[in-house]
Amino acid sequence: MNYYSLNKKAPNVSFKDAVIKGLAPDKGLYFPESITPLSKDFFNHIEYFSNEEIAYEVIKQFVGDEIPEKELKEIINETLCFDFPVVEIEKNISSLELFHGPTMAFKDVGARFMARCFGYFNKEAKDATKVTVLVATSGDTGGAVASGFLGVDGVDVVILYPSGKVSDVQEKQLTTLGQNIKALEVNGTFDNCQAMVKTAFLDPELINSKNLTSANSINVARWLPQMFYFFFAYKQLKNKKKKLVFSIPSGNFGNICAGMMAQQLGLPIEHFVASTNINDIVPNYLETGIYTPKPSKQTISNAMDVGDPSNFIRIQEIYGNNDELLKKHLSSYAFTDDETRDAMKEIKKISGYIADPHGAVGYLGLKKYLHANSAQGIFLETAHPVKFLDVVEPVLNETIEFPPQILEVIEKDKIAIEISTYNELKDFLLK
Ligand SMILES: *Cc1c(COP(=O)(O)O)cnc(C)c1O
Repeated sequence: MNYYSLNKKAPNVSFKDAVIKGLAPDKGLYFPESITPLSKDFFNHIEYFSNEEIAYEVIKQFVGDEIPEKELKEIINETLCFDFPVVEIEKNISSLELFHGPTMAFKDVGARFMARCFGYFNKEAKDATKVTVLVATSGDTGGAVASGFLGVDGVDVVILYPSGKVSDVQEKQLTTLGQNIKALEVNGTFDNCQAMVKTAFLDPELINSKNLTSANSINVARWLPQMFYFFFAYKQLKNKKKKLVFSIPSGNFGNICAGMMAQQLGLPIEHFVASTNINDIVPNYLETGIYTPKPSKQTISNAMDVGDPSNFIRIQEIYGNNDELLKKHLSSYAFTDDETRDAMKEIKKISGYIADPHGAVGYLGLKKYLHANSAQGIFLETAHPVKFLDVVEPVLNETIEFPPQILEVIEKDKIAIEISTYNELKDFLLK
């Protein structure tokens, strides 16, 4: 499969090159040249397939012959080493739990798949040169990338995170692994971290001496595997014979955009709801038709504090840059922190279920949509509540027990290098 740049000013590349480069040379995001729907037969019999078999059917056209079947199946098996349960919360509302992986957020799927693709391409390369994955995180990406890439040959990972602005669990997940994973604790905000990473990607001295790449959802190997769990949810809810509506708590809009790709493959999804916190760029766009990026504002659902969602351009591409068509498939609503806290309380009161702040935003968006529409609603529970203890415990007056994968890192010692300026980052990368 070849990929083109959405800026249309760079040559088309193979899956392998799209994965290794991350972003096209014209700074555009890569998009697959074609999308071929899966057979009716596949959907009719999906309940007889294992998750691994489904994932292989879903991803194979996007990889093409660049990873042989046997290796691709191995990559998928290693990626999907945990469950994706759909849990009913109330009538017609279910939670799709995406937090059963090693770092307890949905980003594990994309990060594990991408890391293993890198591992494969590196093993195959005759002139294996070391790749440095450079990534800024507001919390969850760092942990998922650290865990996904741990021990992958030929890859060094450098993670920048804003000092004091990630939760204790998140900090431990990205600072305690050692080996090929290095954490830089930045005296600043997430926006500062991201700006440093962007500067690095444009710094000729660095790009001439290092193979730098990114690991956020602009990378097709992190973005596309996120299609899988929409199929897994369908498999579990198919017997309800109702129209499916997904509400996705959205920040950079990679996750929801993967759901839309699943729909393009023929998955019968009736409608998408993009639920956001007060970083409401997309809800505003759908209302006004004007896309206005803004500096991000800090909220209790901090993994969605994004003021210029990078994958939105892919969403527009999927629907042919046609706003009417887009609106037929997508609604988008924004919610405040107070509304989010109230929703967490309401969910617990109604069903005993404990949602994290991101899942609660998803629940709110779904409720709002279902108020006027009848369907089977699913919100994506994108992280385990333990990752946002400092929000969840006081709001719900509840003690959250640490699952084993959290206990394991929380006892380890943090190792991070403190930096304040771009030059300190550059020196670190060059040494
Ligand atoms: C990253 C993240 C999101 C946002 O996902 P996007 O693909 O960036 O829209 C939502 N919730 C949690 C818990 C996350 O870690």
